[in-house]
Amino acid sequence: MTQTQTHPSLLDRLPKVRGSYKENAPLAPLTWFRVGGAADVLFTPADADDLATFLAGCPDDIPVLVVGVGSNLLVRDGGIEGVVIRLGSGFTSIERVDDTKMRAGCAVPDIMLAKAALNAGLTGLEFYRGIPGALGGALRMNAGAYGHETKDVLIEAEAVSRKGERVTLSNADFGYSYRHSEVADDLIFTSALFQAALGDKDEIKARMDDITSSREDSQPIKSRTGGSTFKNPGGTNPDGPKAWKLIDAAGARGLKRGGAQVSEQHCNFLINTGDATGSDLEGLGEEVRARVKETSGIELQWEIKRVGREAQT
Ligand SMILES: Cc1cc2nc3c(=O)[nH]c(=O)nc-3n(C[C@H](O)[C@H](O)[C@H](O)COP(=O)(O)OP(=O)(O)OC[C@H]3O[C@@H](n4cnc5c(N)ncnc54)[C@H](O)[C@@H]3O)c2cc1C
Repeated sequence: MTQTQTHPSLLDRLPKVRGSYKENAPLAPLTWFRVGGAADVLFTPADADDLATFLAGCPDDIPVLVVGVGSNLLVRDGGIEGVVIRLGSGFTSIERVDDTKMRAGCAVPDIMLAKAALNAGLTGLEFYRGIPGALGGALRMNAGAYGHETKDVLIEAEAVSRKGERVTLSNADFGYSYRHSEVADDLIFTSALFQAALGDKDEIKARMDDITSSREDSQPIKSRTGGSTFKNPGGTNPDGPKAWKLIDAAGARGLKRGGAQVSEQHCNFLINTGDATGSDLEGLGEEVRARVKETSGIELQWEIKRVGREAQT
């Protein structure tokens, strides 16, 4: 455990756990954008029981936020107040439950679930090959691609409430819509059960290979980015308005602010070109929204979750 003098009293107020606490923990290395300040405390629970113990014993006035692998997250420069929870190796199991179902921990990368399904000869989970998050984030965001979403494959999920109670949520409990779930913000998902179908391994692999090459061609996947910045105003309707087209029409492709830039390759992606701050990225995103509003009358909604405090000046 790392001890600093920055927040001397917070650790003293937290319950004894089997996992680890780290004070003043930099969050930039834990996100795709590589920006943002530190968590007052970062907690890595040993397993779901340890997480429940922590949440039951953590005083109500201490804010708690769970993060995945930070592929849809913009952490502000002043860092995050309270405790940030990141699920680790206690949440990475993947098992085939019966002929057509897979259960996985919520720290499992989406891509690993897709690969495990391929190895088991199961189809239906190939779309996760293209999404660089972990399953907890996928459940929260109704992550999807290529006409499939988490809501199409999720049977149920285990979660822990802010009071430390273990709950099971059915697919219907999530109230899913495009990149959104209605589940209470304070629930932390720990594992999930997915429905797949028996398939042909060669065909499954071919579909996953197609997804891999289509991603490489169309998205700046090797850059410091947060994926799609704004939701498509038309949701999953293939004929509805697309955020990137509106951004392009507003002349914002390639626009820069500090070290932040609207991607030239895919203009619904923001890029940290090297020395961007969280404020550069968020400010650039707001400028794009204003330009789109001016040229099209449409107000884009952030898909990226912006969290934390502004930097103190
Ligand atoms: C290059 C690139 C391409 C992308 N392509 C796609 C795409 O095609 N489709 C798509 O849907 N998304 C896409 N994304 C966005 C992102 O990968 C998904 O939203 C992903 O599901 C986020 O998962 P994460 O683990 O990174 O979550 P984070 O970004 O860390 O967090 C996202 C949200 O989920 C919450 N959360 C995380 N873990 C848990 C948990 N265990 N319990 C409860 N809540 C939790 C967080 O609090 C936060 O609100 C892309 C991102 C990048 C960088």
